[in-house]
Amino acid sequence: WSRGLGDVYKRQGLHIVGQAVNGIPGTPDADIDAPEAWGMSRVDADEVVVAVIDTGVDTMHPDLQPVLWTNGGEIPGNGVDDDGNGFVDDVYGWDFINNDNDPMDDNGHGTHCSGTIGAAANNGIGVVGVSPNVSIMALKFLSAGGSGSSADAIDCLEYATMMGVNLTSNSWGGGGFSQAMADAIADAGANNALFVAAAGNSSSNNDVNPHYPSSYDLDNVVAGASTNHNDELSSFSSYGATSVDIAAPGSDILSTLPGNSYGVLSGTSMATPHVAGALALIEGRFPAIDALDAKALLLNFADPLDNHDGVVLSGSRLNAFWPIAEPDSIPPAQI
Ligand code: CA
Ligand code: CA
Ligand code: CA
Repeated sequence: WSRGLGDVYKRQGLHIVGQAVNGIPGTPDADIDAPEAWGMSRVDADEVVVAVIDTGVDTMHPDLQPVLWTNGGEIPGNGVDDDGNGFVDDVYGWDFINNDNDPMDDNGHGTHCSGTIGAAANNGIGVVGVSPNVSIMALKFLSAGGSGSSADAIDCLEYATMMGVNLTSNSWGGGGFSQAMADAIADAGANNALFVAAAGNSSSNNDVNPHYPSSYDLDNVVAGASTNHNDELSSFSSYGATSVDIAAPGSDILSTLPGNSYGVLSGTSMATPHVAGALALIEGRFPAIDALDAKALLLNFADPLDNHDGVVLSGSRLNAFWPIAEPDSIPPAQI
């Protein structure tokens, strides 16, 4: 961690020591304790695959290339579906809009989310993700303009489930209830996968006005609201005492953008990959853990918010460290 705790990290919400953001002083320790989590000697998440279901990922970005998932069963570029999964030359994932093997990001959103989850550490450039040795699978269903169809989103999720992915990060929402989407998420759950979803940016109570997919009432959904650098609910963030599970940093988040660049974005879209990254650390720390046990650890070992009444189910903001801090505090997972 030679680049340690520079301003870049602080702006990511990973570690805050009271620095100002946009001229507003921050609250010390209103962060997710990522450096503390990284100090855990046994955390090695490179076997953990997180599927980012979004606008794609800039697979050329030098801060993401080291952490891209690659399909070990596929010989790239030979025009043959070597692993027989129905997708030809699917090396990094798949583009379900154009139905091709190049999930390149032509928007920026998916690349930003990916950097928050797992941008490479100790490479002397840019930013560091919450879980910087994870493997990121790029699944694209949102266009350059940021829109996409439920059918393509379902295809992304079904691909991830087929490939045995235990964690998907879903920084998107809109549209009404879809039984087909609910079924796909439930099927992921039946295959021990968590579905992390953004609560939405309409400042509304999802308990009253459901927001999908984050509001699907399924055990394997982990819905995330956004907090700012003072541990307050972000002004844009939707919330819900029963339908939103946890809050995480989502205001003024610096991360990767296409074209070897970086930028600051805000939204529950930015909170969601913090949650996914923390879950990847849990799965890396406890490789055999049941998905719902990982979710319980995440929700139970978080930092209580001062004014949390009615905000989120856990009443807490994400902490990446405490869920993996005490190896003897949870029973070993069933294998
Ligand atoms: Ca294939
Ligand atoms: Ca091939
Ligand atoms: Ca980096």
